[in-house]
Amino acid sequence: METKILSAKDVNEAAEILKMGGIVAIPTETVYGLAADAFNEDAIRKIFIAKGRPSDNPLIVHISSIDEIYGLVQEVTPEAIKLANAFWPGPLTIILKKSKVILDIISGGLDTVAIRMPAHRIAKKIIKETKTPLVAPSANLSGRPSPTKVEHVALDLKGKIDAIVDAGTCNIGVESTVISLCEKIPTVFRPGAITIEQLESVLGKVEFDSAVINRLDENSKPISPGLKYKHYAPNVKLIILDGNQKQYLDYINNNEANKVAALCFEEDAKNLKIPFATYGKEVDPLLQAEKLFDALRKLDNMKNIDLVYARCPAKSGVGLAVYNRLIRAAGFNIINL
Ligand code: AMP
Ligand code: MG
Repeated sequence: METKILSAKDVNEAAEILKMGGIVAIPTETVYGLAADAFNEDAIRKIFIAKGRPSDNPLIVHISSIDEIYGLVQEVTPEAIKLANAFWPGPLTIILKKSKVILDIISGGLDTVAIRMPAHRIAKKIIKETKTPLVAPSANLSGRPSPTKVEHVALDLKGKIDAIVDAGTCNIGVESTVISLCEKIPTVFRPGAITIEQLESVLGKVEFDSAVINRLDENSKPISPGLKYKHYAPNVKLIILDGNQKQYLDYINNNEANKVAALCFEEDAKNLKIPFATYGKEVDPLLQAEKLFDALRKLDNMKNIDLVYARCPAKSGVGLAVYNRLIRAAGFNIINL
């Protein structure tokens, strides 16, 4: 299949392809999403095939105005209204009980559905122009780092999807915060740029699922299916070193191993004698989020590297989102310095 590369001017063409049942990678403020008409089961099936996504991993439904949520869920609860007013459009996904119109292929057999209203100008235009909500999981092969640039999408999916809309780099860089309003206490299933502290300021007490930062044991059934899958993994082995800058640099510089690279902050790089990719600055978790997936892909392109030592981000605020992605990329391999 030929994959058309479209630009921000071609919103109409992208919408036409989607209306005809095609699948199109679209920019959002978080990462590129692989979109299909949320009411077209055949189109949605193409997404699972192109990505190699397990069928029990549910999809997020993207809308372009708050009103559209009413048909999609059983009840828009007062908490949902508070969250939507505070954070939509933006990088927050809300899980509610699904209505009958939600196809099983979207919810992976669950009785709930995840909804988001993105803030990205082009994403909003495409949804509006298509005149239907769109499902849009990250536009990468399942298990690979999520795409923040068109070249990431092209590398994973060129030849497998109908089109890619190029709108440059996604500025948030990690996927949306996912919060469920179907638990006793609102529960974060995936941390993102909207932090737990921000959610608590609107809702009061919010919990986060332990699988956000811990490995699930083999037999447990997660409440969010995506938590059980291998994620964001570069092809090289990654180990997180949890410590301050001096401990990190000492550990690496006293370690004679060959074929080792570093995934570090910008300010660490000048003190290292091994190849490196940087992901932002220690004091700036938003920048870390923006750069992380691109840095993971850069490490994959390095020749002759078997092992990468990653500097550990903060585990709070937006740092928690970065840590959540990194610890999955590292297969939960972490050394406390
Ligand atoms: P992605 O589409 O790659 O951004 O991943 C979507 C994430 O949202 C996955 O981790 C899913 O498991 C999660 N998700 C989507 N819908 C639901 C739902 N109804 N219940 C729980 N988790 C969900
Ligand atoms: Mg994904």
